Parts: sequence; structure tokens; C-alpha cells
Amino acid sequence: MNPTDRLQRPLHDLRISVTDRCNFRCRYCMPAEEFGADHAFLPREEILTFEEIVRLTRVASRLGVTKARLTGGEPLLRRGLDDLIAMIATVPGIEDIALTTNGTLLAHHAEALALAGLSRVTVSLDALNPDTFGRMNGVGAKVERVLSGITAARTFDLGVKINCVIQKGVNEQEILPLARWAATEQLSLRFIEFMDVGETNHWDARQVVPADEILTHLRTEFRLEPLQPTQAGETARRWRLDNGPTEIGIIASVSQPFCRACNRLRLSADGRIYTCLFASQGHDLRPLLRGAADDNLLEATLRGLWSARDDRYSELRGQTHAPKAEMSYLGG
Ligand code: SAM
Ligand code: SF4
Ligand code: SF4
Repeated sequence: MNPTDRLQRPLHDLRISVTDRCNFRCRYCMPAEEFGADHAFLPREEILTFEEIVRLTRVASRLGVTKARLTGGEPLLRRGLDDLIAMIATVPGIEDIALTTNGTLLAHHAEALALAGLSRVTVSLDALNPDTFGRMNGVGAKVERVLSGITAARTFDLGVKINCVIQKGVNEQEILPLARWAATEQLSLRFIEFMDVGETNHWDARQVVPADEILTHLRTEFRLEPLQPTQAGETARRWRLDNGPTEIGIIASVSQPFCRACNRLRLSADGRIYTCLFASQGHDLRPLLRGAADDNLLEATLRGLWSARDDRYSELRGQTHAPKAEMSYLGG
């Protein structure tokens, strides 16, 4: 039988970080002053091989996982990602393979990713304004590169969603232009509240633009019709924009936590399992993977970790103070 955790939540979704490196230095995730030239990224020998990732995905699928999402760091920096996708696509029970990316390398890889069996891609795009975008990504990257990545993904029939983190005083003014653009392009767009992930992004509650405020901005220009959730564990509340095909979502993990429905397990690039995005510690599976453990022992270990899970950080925000792992390391 598939396990449930201590809050009766089933396991559905496996988020796989394939690298802790990134070609951006978004201030809310990897601020340049913390992730400088001397930052110690994971050494190559500690990073899971594709075979190890696929083995864990197979074991996780025996416990109820049907969705795999590749993330990071920037997952398209991992060489041969299309080979990994093709390997995951053969795992029985995995129905959906998604990728979260900053989009800069997508134009180059979209065709190979689609051929390998990728279903969907979520592209992070925090601003259309070139100056705001350049400031937020911390390296002056050009918005056009991301837009051409999105175009390429659509050309090869990948489902595309856009994620946008909104920070007060930084990119609130981008809410309406992004919504207009999404409506014209008929793309689903999700706004994300700035979260207190990790320890390096200098999170401050005053920089969060709560979902209600994002909605107020949107309603000055658009009619929003609420949509019912279509999947268990959906993190975004969604609305149809102006009766058209475009959906707007808001992921309000700060102002309206959704821990009760959280069915996600995270695997870091070096083989640690995390049961919450805000966890301090993960469980290191490398000794098992690289030792003599068979799949039954791996399955029993994952089952035990999920069954013992009682995480609900967003509901308890402010009451716990243990240091948190960085999002770029454990996978967004
Ligand atoms: N590099 C890829 C990207 O940016 O899409 C994948 C990894 S990134 C950690 C995954 C997602 O987490 C991105 O959509 C990013 O905007 C989001 N994210 C990172 N830090 C965040 C924060 N402090 N609050 C809210 N979302 C954040
Ligand atoms: Fe890199 Fe994504 Fe983090 Fe930005 S949000 S620094 S693109 S991992
Ligand atoms: Fe899931 Fe943890 Fe986020 Fe709650 S805080 S929704 S348990 S990842």
C-alpha cells in the first residue's frame, strides 16, 4: 500500500535537483555576494549519476509518485539532461515529467527535451522590463533570451507555464504588464509570494506582496473568474482571465499556506531526501545507493521517511527557527 504521512498526506510528486549551480544570481535565491566566485558548489563525485536518479525515481514510483519535476539550480546546466529525461520516461508509473528553468538555455535544448519525453516546462520570468529583469537575475541577463526559449518550447509542443516571484519595491509594477503579455500569448502565469527559503536571501515579511494585493492589482484591469482545483495538492489558486484561455494563478505560501495538501518529496543533487522546502536537514541516501542496498531497502527507507513526515513549515512560520537549506541546493 502507498504510504501517507503523519498528516494523512499521500506522496505524488518527486522534485529532483540535478545541480546546485546556476547561471543567474537572483537576489531572492542566490544573492551574488553570498554565491561568489569562491562559493563551494557540490563536487562532481558527490552528485548523483543519471542511473542513481532513475533508480530512486523507480523506487519512489512504487510508493505513489506519478510526477517528476527536474529543477536545481539551473537544470539545463546539467549536461545530457535530455538523456536523463528519456531514462525517467521509461519508469513505470511516471506519467508526467516537468522541468523548471530560468529559460536562458531553453531555445537551444527545447527540441531534444521534447523528443526525450518532457511533458511540460515552467519558465521563471520575473519582469518584462529589461532593467528590472537584469537587476533581479543579478547577472544582467536579457529578457529576450528567455522569451525565445519560451517560443522554442511551444514550437516543439511542450506545455509552458510562467512563474513570477513578486517582491515589494522590486517588481510589483510588472504584475499588469506580465498579465497583459500572458493574455496575448495565451500562456498560464503564476505569481509567487516572496518566500523565506534558505538563509541567504535577506527575506523580510515587508517585502512580501500578499495574494490579495496581487489580485487587487489584476482586478484594476481584468475580470477574474475563479477556477476549481483540478489536481490534489495544487499549490496555486487559479482564475480565468477575461473569459479567455489564459489562466492566472497565485502561489500564496506565506499569506495562505497550503501544507495540508503538500504531497512533494525533494531529492537534492547529492542524494539527500527532503520532506519540506524549508527543512534544515535531509536524509542522505548516497550510502545506500553506493553501498550494497537493494531496491527493497531503498523503498523501505523512503517509506519510513514519508510515514514519519509531519512538516508544515508555512503554517508554523515564525514559530520555528532552525537554519534552512538553500533552495538552489535542495531544488525549488
Ligand atoms: N533555476 C530554475 C528557475 O529559476 O526556474 C529552477 C530552480 S528555482 C530555485 C525554482 C523556482 O523557485 C523559480 O521559479 C524561482 O523563481 C523560485 N524561487 C526561488 N527563490 C524564491 C523565493 N525566495 N521565493 C519564492 N520563489 C522563489
Ligand atoms: Fe538560479 Fe533559479 Fe535561483 Fe534564479 S531562482 S538564482 S535562476 S536557481
Ligand atoms: Fe509542503 Fe513544507 Fe511548503 Fe508546507 S512548507 S507546503 S510542507 S514544502
